[in-house]
Amino acid sequence: MAMESKEEALKKGIAEFYDASSGTWEDIWGDHMHHGFYDPGATAPIRDHRAAQIRMIEEALRFAGVSDNPLKKPKKVVDVGCGIGGSSRYIAKKYGSHCQGITLSPIQVQRAQALSADEGLEDKVNFQVADALNQPFPDGQFDLVWSMESGEHMPDKVKFVSELLRVAAPGATIVIVTWCHRDLLPSEANLAPDETSLLNKICNAYYLPSWCSAADYVKIANSLSLEDIKTADWSDYVAPFWPAVIRSAFTWKGFTSLLRTGWKTIKGALVMPLMIHGYNKKLIKFTIITCRKPA
Ligand code: SAH
Repeated sequence: MAMESKEEALKKGIAEFYDASSGTWEDIWGDHMHHGFYDPGATAPIRDHRAAQIRMIEEALRFAGVSDNPLKKPKKVVDVGCGIGGSSRYIAKKYGSHCQGITLSPIQVQRAQALSADEGLEDKVNFQVADALNQPFPDGQFDLVWSMESGEHMPDKVKFVSELLRVAAPGATIVIVTWCHRDLLPSEANLAPDETSLLNKICNAYYLPSWCSAADYVKIANSLSLEDIKTADWSDYVAPFWPAVIRSAFTWKGFTSLLRTGWKTIKGALVMPLMIHGYNKKLIKFTIITCRKPA
């Protein structure tokens, strides 16, 4: 019971956080609410951010081996933790697929539907409020299961991956792009206390439960008998992202928009330097995990 109420409080916090902050993010950065993928060592001017975010989607699709071949390309896609639907619209346009997005934030659903209507994509994409850990879909529906930077919000990673697997069709590709902590050394049972304390501050501001490592995800995927499990650390490719976000917060537009949206969003902005610190300490790992449901 105590556990349940903790999970409910987390979900409420996530919904309120995105209800409050999505408009600001969209004003400054547009409809993709995820890191950009940059050439290592690049400094990214704010004007290049959208191309880098699209590149992130493309690199993830390529890493997962999602096919452009008309016979093999994904037809039904679920976008788990869809934000305001940036990935869904991109994937629907790229492959002609039907995309179903879920988020905890009602404001994001409204905005995702409106943006999609503006682009004439109403019959290709659809969004609803739903929990990734208890998805409102029957088993075996989707040939691409996509989670772009939502896994870090999930309090139960086994349930999260199991639910992705449940809704996946036989042979479907599962893509998880997410924030992890570093893999533990064989001699370690836990992260060091200063590492845990840094992550806790980030968790509080962004409504995240405790983190896991890429190795933990691989262990879960193996335990569920998933196939072709691949993972990579893309931290070097995303390094320019947070400095660019911080620069954008200091523009007049960013600053006034932040002030208008209130404390939850400002609290998120204040911990941005901690993300950079975490990457520099090699504690935070920007991770992709892909796998396939057995055919
Ligand atoms: N994938 C989107 C948004 C990333 S932000 C993009 O790349 O643009 C994280 C998203 O995960 C938010 O939309 C948030 O509502 C969603 N999320 C977090 N926990 C969730 C849960 N338990 N169920 C469904 N969505 C969740």
